[in-house]
Amino acid sequence: MAAGFISSPGTEYGPCIDACDHHDCGPNRLLAAQGCAVCQEPIGYETMFYQEDNWTVLTHERCSLLVDQAVRMISEGMSHPAMVVQLAKEYELSTEKVRQMLTCENSGLCPVWCPGHEQASA
Ligand SMILES: [Zn+2]
Ligand SMILES: [Zn+2]
Ligand SMILES: [Zn+2]
Repeated sequence: MAAGFISSPGTEYGPCIDACDHHDCGPNRLLAAQGCAVCQEPIGYETMFYQEDNWTVLTHERCSLLVDQAVRMISEGMSHPAMVVQLAKEYELSTEKVRQMLTCENSGLCPVWCPGHEQASA
């Protein structure tokens, strides 16, 4: 799975800054506005991301790395609260955000209600 990114509006390969009828500009703007499957925030510009299912599922490369790392940590027997705290530190996010990103709907890492995540407070 190769990562790609959308250039900033107004740059050589980016969409126009203002509304236009160009073939690629509209779709690129829509992609940049689409939410990441893990963090739910817009994909944005100049940020590496992966696409799946014919561009219907987009994931920031960084978020995908975070999830991979969480899977490794859990398989190595790390407790969920410790994992959340460490990932928050490494990725410079709040523990709240990391908990949100690692819900089972997104990653399948945790049971529907994960007591470990409940306990990991900021
Ligand atoms: Zn344009
Ligand atoms: Zn993301
Ligand atoms: Zn958990």
